[in-house]
Amino acid sequence: MVSRNPHFAKLPAGYLFPEIARRRRALLEKQPAAKIISLGIGNTTEPLTPAITKGLVEAAARLGAAAGYSGYGDEQGLAALREQIAKVLYRDRISADEITISDGAKCDIGRLQILFGGKATVAVQDPAYPVYVDGSIIAGADSRLQYMPCLPKNNFFPDLSRLPRADLIYFCSPNNPTGAVADKAQLAELVEFARKNKSIIIFDAAYSEYITDGDLPRSIYEIDGADEAAIEVNSFSKSIGFTGVRLGWCVVPRKIKFADGTLVWQDWTRVITTLFNGASNIAQHGGLAALTPAGRRETKTLIAYYQENARLIREGLQALGIQLYGGVNSPYIWAHFPAQKSWDVFEKILNEAQVVTTPGAGFGPAGESFIRFSAFGHRADIQEAMQRLQNVLKN
Ligand code: PLP
Repeated sequence: MVSRNPHFAKLPAGYLFPEIARRRRALLEKQPAAKIISLGIGNTTEPLTPAITKGLVEAAARLGAAAGYSGYGDEQGLAALREQIAKVLYRDRISADEITISDGAKCDIGRLQILFGGKATVAVQDPAYPVYVDGSIIAGADSRLQYMPCLPKNNFFPDLSRLPRADLIYFCSPNNPTGAVADKAQLAELVEFARKNKSIIIFDAAYSEYITDGDLPRSIYEIDGADEAAIEVNSFSKSIGFTGVRLGWCVVPRKIKFADGTLVWQDWTRVITTLFNGASNIAQHGGLAALTPAGRRETKTLIAYYQENARLIREGLQALGIQLYGGVNSPYIWAHFPAQKSWDVFEKILNEAQVVTTPGAGFGPAGESFIRFSAFGHRADIQEAMQRLQNVLKN
């Protein structure tokens, strides 16, 4: 018989979201008529916007005629899309030939874990988006993981002076799950730390479009020297609702090198060309449409919709006297329930209000006693959920 890859036995019992889905099904078995509202998973709910839909439809139609058909494309992605990302989203701080287009940020994180392998030492924020930890464990890096607690007492920014050197530092801002957004001084400290230690930051900017405060950095490359120390992953999922369409990108600056002098970019393109055949050509044309002036306007409107949801959630929870973080420049609200276990609060909210949330402990030990509320939802559902919570969570 085939031996199981031993790394899988080291993973925590189950991925967080399947466990939440299991508990939701259990409620429905007990109460089949329950009208469950989800403020749990960070899945987008609103339809694609017109200019972006048109970009997708026209690209699909072109494929249906001999003159417009194309098969495999450039594995790095459409040159025009890479150029527009560099220009519109990075104001040419990085160049188009440092960008690769992908089927999403999560998929790129997995491929980066293959690139760096199981021997790389890894530091992750605690709490964190589960893929950084679980993907590292699958790649074999289990015993070497360093957790960087991010709590209200340190303003959700790790105490770097206590952190031993790590090869890779995962950092997510705006943060999933805490909703915290690092400011320029904090990111400058992180970049300085990485440069001093010759570490590489994997900066996850999947929620960068939720930053409306002009003083907050939307990309790590707004920090001097970051192009020597940071790889950035980003995505069209949360900005234009491409969670199902699938489109993202990764920036690997040419200045980042391995200890032997090899460009990280060189091995990254090898991973891409070997394991990935390029993002969908239809999706890439949708991405191009999103970067036109009309697409940018629509993106702002869509983001404003989810931000208003976040404001309503904040308002509802504040009325209950709950201590909150995030939810401004971010679609996630991080609510504190001191001295309570987050899975217990999750169960109470699920069973008594029929509202699905995400228990903070599922994102790491420092998430205990917190609940993540997601602003992705239809407005009427958000309003209804907040009304139900007023009864269930009042003291
Ligand atoms: N990064 C973070 C921090 C996320 O929260 C998510 C999705 O929830 C992703 C990446 C995944 O992005 P994509 O849909 O592009 O794979």
